[in-house]
Amino acid sequence: MAILPIRTYPDPILAQKSAPVTEFDDSVSKIVEDMKQTMQNAPGIGLAAVQVGIAKRILIFDAGQAAQREDEGEGEGEHNQDQEQEKPSNIVVCINPVITSAQGSVVSENEGCLSVPELRANVTRSACVRAKAFDENGAPFDLDLEGMAAIVFQHELDHLEGVLFLERISRLKRDLYKRRVRKWQKDV
Ligand SMILES: [Zn+2]
Repeated sequence: MAILPIRTYPDPILAQKSAPVTEFDDSVSKIVEDMKQTMQNAPGIGLAAVQVGIAKRILIFDAGQAAQREDEGEGEGEHNQDQEQEKPSNIVVCINPVITSAQGSVVSENEGCLSVPELRANVTRSACVRAKAFDENGAPFDLDLEGMAAIVFQHELDHLEGVLFLERISRLKRDLYKRRVRKWQKDV
């Protein structure tokens, strides 16, 4: 297992559409294990393979931590300074995930992304989603998600399409952020 570097905006790979996994072999298990370690180290509650430079349709999220953060209004999360105690982990691995139905609408408050550092913004998401996916062994399963888990899942699914949450916020906020990034790049 290895902690992989997380790609950040404007790395062009983040705009790439990820390819389906066609063989569930050892290389997939290795990617999943590395992703788990990388997500927990970040720490975050969701991660898509493309965020570690692998444009395959693999996402993971921590359903246990998502449930605990539900009232705190946090997204995929970068740093949560208030983490005083170990939170129970329940990492769900979704390969080639597809949403089969979505209902309702909810504002995900202060959503964040490990690939878009130092930005938090409100994003409108579906309130409940049903989806299907495969686990790392190639076994199909269904997901029925609501609350924070549904939000994180939709956020990660966007990554597989090459979409960052930056594209779901107001143009003003997006432009301000892009300007900040350009300034950081100049300062390096
Ligand atoms: Zn993200």
